[in-house]
Amino acid sequence: MTSIEVWNQGRFKRVQDQFQQGSLPHAILLMGPEGIGRENFAQSLAEWLLCLNRQDEACGECKSCFLFEAGHHPDYHLLDIEQDKTQISVGQVRELITAMQESSHQGGWKVANITNVQAMNASSFNALLKTLEEPQDNTLLILQTSQLQGVPLTIRSRAQLLSLSVDGSEEVKAWLIERQGNMTQALEAAINLFPQAPYKAEDFGVNGDTLKYAEFIVQINDLVAGKGSPIEMAQFWHEELADAVFWMQLMVRDILLLQQANKEADLLFMQQKQELEGLAKAINGQGWLLLLEKINELQRLIKQKSPVNLMASWQSLLIFVTQIASKYKPLD
Ligand SMILES: [Zn+2]
Repeated sequence: MTSIEVWNQGRFKRVQDQFQQGSLPHAILLMGPEGIGRENFAQSLAEWLLCLNRQDEACGECKSCFLFEAGHHPDYHLLDIEQDKTQISVGQVRELITAMQESSHQGGWKVANITNVQAMNASSFNALLKTLEEPQDNTLLILQTSQLQGVPLTIRSRAQLLSLSVDGSEEVKAWLIERQGNMTQALEAAINLFPQAPYKAEDFGVNGDTLKYAEFIVQINDLVAGKGSPIEMAQFWHEELADAVFWMQLMVRDILLLQQANKEADLLFMQQKQELEGLAKAINGQGWLLLLEKINELQRLIKQKSPVNLMASWQSLLIFVTQIASKYKPLD
């Protein structure tokens, strides 16, 4: 099963076993966070079920596999949020149901893959519920979601829950080494940051965010040393405000670790250890915790897409850094 990520293989095999035993459910509620390989899992399962020579995985050579890979298998129905929309509409669901009621074009299984079940509204759910209540033979509905919240109980109770998770970081490390050639400190830090989202970890570890983080730490160090201007720094990160606030949160996390004994090994950003140690010595834990509260507050505003002036909040956060630098000095 080369196409399935190593941490998902056990669960994939279990679904295949259910199929072989004739106990495959009509609907699977496939839950997993972004970046864990959920979409690949769903598509690989669909391709395998539709394959006319299926073995451990889809053969990739039969007519069905050919149609699937070309993106227009008549017995496979992919349902996603349409462009510029935020919800899956009831019209889309009805179309899907009609298509699923037709007899199979290739004489085998029919599979529907709904990629964002949590983005369905009440009437879409009701339409879907009808098919779940009267399932047809040789059909599988894959309902993907990143969370159970927002999926009604009536849907949940008619689908088998299959929850994807990464059970240990060793498999992720091996997978990243295979893909990237070696394990860098940035990748190492990224695995700690996104333990349940290896694809996100890969993106974060490879795409240079860590360089910007290094620049960010240098500027914070200047602020704390009384050399930099909070207003200029706020302006500098203006375009990447959300990232900068996120990095600040990671920075405080590392600093608080450094202020405890023997926690160095858990640092996210080992490469910035020297700068972080400087910061850990310049302001005491109480000061950093106060800052963390303000960071969390600002992150909430960013997430809620709050209409408040984020730039002003960002500036006052950086001014606050200079304030704790003078008020919360360590005792020694
Ligand atoms: Zn095939």
